[in-house]
Amino acid sequence: MRKLSLIAVFLYAATSLIAQKLPEMRYTIDMTQSTDTFNITLYPGKLKEASTFQFASTAPGTYQTMNIGRLISDFEAFDKKGKALEVEKLSVNQYKISDPRKVHKLTYKVAETFDTPLSEYPIYPMAGSSLEEDHALINVHTMLGYFHGLQKSPLTLTLKGRDGWEVGTALSEDKGVYKATDYDHAVDSPILLGKLTRASTRIADTEVVIYTYSQNDKISSDRLLESMSSMLQATRDFLIDLPVDRYTFLYHFATDTRGATGAWEHSYSSEYTLIENDFNTPQQVQAVTDIASHEFFHIVTPLNIHSEIVEEFNFVKPTPSVHLWLYEGVTEWASNILLYRAGELTLDEYLMGSVRQKILVNQQVFNSDWSLRKLAEESFTTEGSRQYGNIYFKGSLIGNLLDIRLLELSDGKMGLRELLLDLIEKYGKGKPVSEATFFDDLAAMTYPEIRQFFDDYVLDNKELPLSEYFAKVGIQIEGTLVKKMEEMSPAQERLFEIWSKNLER
Ligand SMILES: [Zn+2]
Repeated sequence: MRKLSLIAVFLYAATSLIAQKLPEMRYTIDMTQSTDTFNITLYPGKLKEASTFQFASTAPGTYQTMNIGRLISDFEAFDKKGKALEVEKLSVNQYKISDPRKVHKLTYKVAETFDTPLSEYPIYPMAGSSLEEDHALINVHTMLGYFHGLQKSPLTLTLKGRDGWEVGTALSEDKGVYKATDYDHAVDSPILLGKLTRASTRIADTEVVIYTYSQNDKISSDRLLESMSSMLQATRDFLIDLPVDRYTFLYHFATDTRGATGAWEHSYSSEYTLIENDFNTPQQVQAVTDIASHEFFHIVTPLNIHSEIVEEFNFVKPTPSVHLWLYEGVTEWASNILLYRAGELTLDEYLMGSVRQKILVNQQVFNSDWSLRKLAEESFTTEGSRQYGNIYFKGSLIGNLLDIRLLELSDGKMGLRELLLDLIEKYGKGKPVSEATFFDDLAAMTYPEIRQFFDDYVLDNKELPLSEYFAKVGIQIEGTLVKKMEEMSPAQERLFEIWSKNLER
């Protein structure tokens, strides 16, 4: 007993020593001065050597170049007496402060991304920022930076919004101040403020909260929750346990989102910037559920299972991970097939909606000569950003093929879902997969043939054997038709039944 408590005291002392070394970054985001521009103040505590202040060149899960420094103006540093210190702009995203020991506070302005024209590398709205009379959207990487060496400093956020604004975020709050364990955690936690509606529910042990801004009050959180409940339950059935205690959906509906819409995943939340409509046709409702299903499933990958490139995120230089096939492709596959397996989609809806659509878009919209490896490696380039969208189509088809191949090799005992469940057990936050050896590791966890599968269809660009593989589970691809075969062999019949359900675990 005594030894244990001594160890505990020692550990506590050791961790508080580490914590003491890193000063707390106290940020204020002022949204009351004007629309379209955020006014930022940072009290960085006592700085030592840290002198380079960094804005994000990209952000996790976006796979795009952003160069946030483009939006920054009036960057100034002051000492305790309010005297301006010398500041030098080193590059688009970096400022150097001549004497960091004297810094008392930094102030600067940030243009919102929605209404700021950018000639190259446009920033998608879901990863951007907006500030209007009745609401604001904050993605932390679009306005806050960090000192080199202090990416792990804890930070606090004081949000000065207009009177009566509600705040939706996964960050915890204490007396009006929001806290993040470090810069990465803050970037992982978008904030929606303004005239919002709120709704919440519980899925098993997970509390789910929805905040919604709807420009003309057409879509409420209650209505969204009602339409998403069965999807949330289906995800839980697929995963058995949801790996989060609390999850927040942030919805931003506007009549104009500058030609782009989308959603972005985070560890404890996801955020949606979508066109506001009447939300009263099955198609309108299904479109929102589909995208929410995809983002919610990201709690598995990359937010839980990812390589060390994602684990230690590099905000200075965009660094691609070859395992994009898993992060986006498998996520898209899972978020679709789990709805079919839960009975939310009929077989016909799944095959003709999801599978057929992926086949057509891969063939007709994108350059199908690009391998999934190339999509990953080139995603930060201009041409790469044009082809990037195919990861949701070709990548999802890879999910289908891998699932069927695993079911075949295991004689129906293990599909891709079961492999994901094994990966959740084996890896997770703080325990990344190896960027270099993950394909071999997956083959070791499954079958040697799986290594060849990755060589052929992820690293190389062999033509996808769609007809051949789908036939193994009794599904026929003929022209633009994807349908269940009228006559199946007993082996096909059996594998079709297994493929159609979540296996017992
Ligand atoms: Zn995604």
